Amino acid sequence: MTYPNTQLFIDGQWQDAADGRTLAVFNPATGREIGRVAHAGIADLDRALAAAQKGFEKWRDVPAAERAKIMRKAAALMRERAGDIAAMLTQEQGKPLVEARGEAMASGDIIDWFADEGQRVYGRIVPSRYNISHRQMVLKDPVGVVAAFTPWNFPINQVVRKMAAALATGCAMIVKAPEETPAAPAALIRAFADAGLPAGVLGLVYGSPAEISNYLIPHPVVRKITFTGSTPVGKQLAALAGQHMKRVTMELGGHAPVIVCEDADIALAVKAAGGAKFRNAGQVCIAPTRFLVHESVKAEFAQALVKHAASLKVGDGLTEGIQMGPLANPRRLTAMAEFTQDAIKQGAQVAHGGARIGDEGNFWQPTVLTDVPLGAKVFNDEPFGPMAAIRGFNTLDEAIAESNRLAYGLAGYAFTRSLKNADLLARRVEVGMLWLNMPAMPSAEMPFGGLKDSGYGSEGGPEAMEAYLNTRAVTIANV
Ligand code: NAD
Repeated sequence: MTYPNTQLFIDGQWQDAADGRTLAVFNPATGREIGRVAHAGIADLDRALAAAQKGFEKWRDVPAAERAKIMRKAAALMRERAGDIAAMLTQEQGKPLVEARGEAMASGDIIDWFADEGQRVYGRIVPSRYNISHRQMVLKDPVGVVAAFTPWNFPINQVVRKMAAALATGCAMIVKAPEETPAAPAALIRAFADAGLPAGVLGLVYGSPAEISNYLIPHPVVRKITFTGSTPVGKQLAALAGQHMKRVTMELGGHAPVIVCEDADIALAVKAAGGAKFRNAGQVCIAPTRFLVHESVKAEFAQALVKHAASLKVGDGLTEGIQMGPLANPRRLTAMAEFTQDAIKQGAQVAHGGARIGDEGNFWQPTVLTDVPLGAKVFNDEPFGPMAAIRGFNTLDEAIAESNRLAYGLAGYAFTRSLKNADLLARRVEVGMLWLNMPAMPSAEMPFGGLKDSGYGSEGGPEAMEAYLNTRAVTIANV
């Protein structure tokens, strides 16, 4: 499939930027330019804002059941088009076709779930303590126009979680999608447009991320900000939103601990955490990163993880059978080299990988580091790449303390056969999402979000709907 150029979507129309500016899009497997994406300027943002306000005023008055019909149609279109969308996604982002197709298909499930949930947004009638004839009502209304900023690692999934909740509640949304992977999010928006979404309800822009966020966040039309990306950028955007008293959801970085207890099923731990580690070449906010393994099983675990890493077929995601593609951009290659050099300098062993593959495209070997000192960069900064760092521990309290040492608190994993250990871990590990004896399995119906520097708010479950709703109290006296 040929890779398309991507336009802006404003007021129900696909269009170039007013001044005609574009940016190049590269295939991370080859390093070659494959297309262009429109670069919005302020004039384009102004049109998107005006359209979104109009769109919101229409959409909030569409009954939830009617909204759900359009959303379900968009979900069906995503499933129908998943093959073509996956081919675009792999070309711009690098992930293997099977993962790209999975992401497109999963968007259908997310849209469907929120379409249904949107029909269960109820208020309350609260009996009055003063007068029986006073009808006290709690009303739930959509917050209004939302500005969403989404990253390049899951170009569809990161948008659809926000968009499905916003649309289900009756909000309008302007999405600033990633310039590096623009075609897949555009395909998602196209599915909604083709499903009959009224003009203006969704807008799609690309350009300079800082210019766009600096313009949209303070703008009076925008009532809510939602961002997925790195912690430093999230803090900047949350601070700006705070100055303008805008509501925010922040889904930021993580540094997930994987605690492998002495009584763990090692084969299961390697299969589950190893599989999750190298999915999307490790560029996943909930990827397992800090492997904390009981000293008594550390050698066995490390050996099995190395075997798993060595067995992975790495290459162009378009090729059949490839299990790990290139990193999405050259910045990640530089980061992987820095993490590796620093770990070696600090005394870690490279048990597998640790180097770039070839000199074309952004390929990095699946990497396993052992005996990693706590001071190593890889044990402190989010690696966001195919790199597993292993350390031993002696007591579970020690492993829990290490899990909670960093400011991150997004995902965590643990493997144990003991109910006592599992209960302690569930209570003490400071993360928004903990998976015990299994790989991560996020779903639309479960909350998705972090604690501490990993952000706040949730992008799944009923909590995700609340993020797009205002709560108002209206009391009517029966005179
Ligand atoms: P980055 O910090 O420059 O950007 C992260 C994301 O934020 C990108 O999508 C970017 O377009 C956007 N962004 C940056 N500045 C912005 C601004 N002023 N306003 C609005 N959006 C802005 O880093 P990067 O090199 O693109 O990614 C590297 C790091 O980002 C990773 O190490 C990882 O920590 C984090 N990241 C996290 C996720 C996630 O799922 N939480 C996804 C992608 C990247």
